[in-house]
Amino acid sequence: MPSVTIDYQICKGAKECGECYNNCPMEVFTIEGDKVVVANEEECTGCGVCEDVCPTGAVKVKFE
Ligand code: SF4
Ligand code: SF4
Repeated sequence: MPSVTIDYQICKGAKECGECYNNCPMEVFTIEGDKVVVANEEECTGCGVCEDVCPTGAVKVKFE
């Protein structure tokens, strides 16, 4: 199962960006305030869309 992490040092936040949340086909992410959080990691298929749309490289999908 892939693991999904967000580096909050470089993430632009849900209000300014939110592209990972908006584009993930599996609804892995949710929004808490201005923060995008990984909520349903077990649903991740490893498609890589979140990495493709992230403007800062903050979200990473790794295969164990
Ligand atoms: S790799 Fe695909 S399924 Fe997994 S969190 Fe990113 S966009 Fe969603
Ligand atoms: S796409 Fe990247 S910068 Fe934008 S909210 Fe997601 S992790 Fe943060």
